[in-house]
Amino acid sequence: MESRGTKREAGEIEVAEPGNKLPRPAPSLPTDPALYSGPFPFYRRPSELGCFSLDAQRQYHGDARALRYYSPPPTNGQSPNFDLRDGYPDRYQPRDEEVQERLDHLLRWLLAHRGQLEGGPGWLAGAIVTWRGHLTKLLTTPYERQEGWQLAASRFQGTLYLSEVETPAARVQRLTRPPLLRELMYMGYKFEQYMCADKPGVSPDPSGEVNTNVAFCSVLRSRLGNHPLLFSGEVDCTNPQAPSTQPPTCYVELKTSKEMHSPGQWKSFYRHKLLKWWAQSFLPGVPNVVAGFRNPEGFVCSLKTFPTMEMFEYVRNDRDGWNPSVCMNFCAAFLSFAQNTVVEDDPRLVYLFSWEPGGPVTVSEHRDAPHAFLPPWATWAHPPPHLAVLARWKL
Ligand code: GDP
Ligand code: MG
Repeated sequence: MESRGTKREAGEIEVAEPGNKLPRPAPSLPTDPALYSGPFPFYRRPSELGCFSLDAQRQYHGDARALRYYSPPPTNGQSPNFDLRDGYPDRYQPRDEEVQERLDHLLRWLLAHRGQLEGGPGWLAGAIVTWRGHLTKLLTTPYERQEGWQLAASRFQGTLYLSEVETPAARVQRLTRPPLLRELMYMGYKFEQYMCADKPGVSPDPSGEVNTNVAFCSVLRSRLGNHPLLFSGEVDCTNPQAPSTQPPTCYVELKTSKEMHSPGQWKSFYRHKLLKWWAQSFLPGVPNVVAGFRNPEGFVCSLKTFPTMEMFEYVRNDRDGWNPSVCMNFCAAFLSFAQNTVVEDDPRLVYLFSWEPGGPVTVSEHRDAPHAFLPPWATWAHPPPHLAVLARWKL
């Protein structure tokens, strides 16, 4: 073991200099809802900058080929009868969750478009780049009592990049996922297949395979307080009959949930599930979430549309409900905390922000593997034709 006073890692607490300054406590960020209940912060109406698709082999395409079209069953008095277990497991091609993609697909989109970004020169240098799903986790943090998270952060050419790291607990949960939970995950994707068609104006075809490699991702610009944001999120489908066909207002998020029978079940649904649904769809400006309620046999027999902007009404008068202001104020506070922590501009330097329910967000400092997540091709000012490297990253 090293004795005190010998070589130290940068970032370790320094010994107080006599008569000078006290040792600085490690910075952390509290997450108690009561601390974030001020007025709703500024949030710019999200606008779509572009999109990309991932195919059945999880290969990137810089177009909308994976976009599907909302095609609900005719509302002729009959209720739907979607068997969500149909095709499981024989017509299921689940994505390989061992592959940690980090920000790669989004970075590939950014590499192709960073020269033509709106917002004026230097907009990207002042922005935060991440996945929508990572921001969703930040929004719900003040109310989350089960699952912690870790976010890796690096600064490169001014831009702050945030990429989630799977926690050890989440990894254990994933590797020991009970068979019933695996089937429930399939059922969520199967619902999408019953509700979406590959072309506008045609009926869905639920006879094919469910392949969760396929994804359509929208790339959006927004701003929370003084934090310009560029993020991407997977979009389930577009509604060709939406009042406005302009993305993201034409997009629809699809969800399944257990059929509810008692007022207590509805109350719990509003407190817990609607919070997650609201956070996920509010961020990209997706105006509607269409829920399919499944019975114990796994059939969806009823549908209900929840407008994103009306979700808060279900908990507004509930003392144990959630508050959008708390979610957004905490997210803004975290982004400021991250901006002030990640000062050095170095893609090999990573700050790991860690949070477990009941505690504050804490930080640790790392260099290179395993946490560095900005690939060399994304950090080239002018990508040279290094063929071997290009091939390895499938460019
Ligand atoms: P969401 O809001 O949690 O669904 O995540 P996003 O819409 O931000 O998705 C960002 C990217 O991560 C997309 O390419 C998704 O296909 C992918 N993705 C979504 N959920 C998961 C997940 O649970 N694990 C991993 N590794 N990737 C995911
Ligand atoms: Mg969905």
